[in-house]
Amino acid sequence: MKTKKYFLITIAVTAMAFLSVACSAQTGGNYQGNVPVVHTENNVGRNGAYQGAEVHQEYPSSGEGLFHPTDAKLTDAEIADLLFMREEEKMARDIYASLYSQWGLPVFQSIAQSEQNHMDSILELLAAYDLDDPAAQTNAGEFINSDLQQLYDTLVSRGQSSLEEALRVGALIEEVDILDLQDAIQNTDKADIVHVYSNLMFGSENHLRSFTGQLTRQVGVTYEPLYLDQESYQQIITKQPSGRGRAGN
Ligand code: MN
Ligand code: MN
Repeated sequence: MKTKKYFLITIAVTAMAFLSVACSAQTGGNYQGNVPVVHTENNVGRNGAYQGAEVHQEYPSSGEGLFHPTDAKLTDAEIADLLFMREEEKMARDIYASLYSQWGLPVFQSIAQSEQNHMDSILELLAAYDLDDPAAQTNAGEFINSDLQQLYDTLVSRGQSSLEEALRVGALIEEVDILDLQDAIQNTDKADIVHVYSNLMFGSENHLRSFTGQLTRQVGVTYEPLYLDQESYQQIITKQPSGRGRAGN
């Protein structure tokens, strides 16, 4: 299962490295240290009333998903997935924060905040299972996982080349995230982990709708999925966010 995930990341890195050649001249490396602080508090209002809220509102907050047996033992695959997903959510957050500072488009800021919530959800699981946090010692734009580091570097540089590319980067990240989360869900039988991953996946579907919608509105582009099959993609794009009357942005 892990093979599939790393395959996805690897093809993403390869594809992006190829595509970013044309815009490499524009990457002046001026991004470092220029990342806006991502606030973790619940922020309603402004442009994105939904951000982060999906994590806590998709399911009734009975708390059942967050209990786990004290003797629960994780497999190596479950551990690898948790560590990976923590950093993958961080990659999304850091890229969107960077692209927000570049383009000032609110969708990047509001989704960066949602990714912070996703990171926090994974961190709760890491704590519950007594695992060290791979993101504990890294700054924005830094990753322990070298594949994610490479993907981050490539996607940020690509997203700096134009607003269209920036929005395409967002859609690409959400596609890969959805597939990785599906994969991670298959790898575990722990209810609390499935619960968190499922909520993150609903968030990613919201984000994919937001980025592809912005591509249409901002630059008149109809996005075509790169990794999701056409049928799954159409299902996500036409789906209403569950239990909510607004789609966010
Ligand atoms: Mn996420
Ligand atoms: Mn996302």
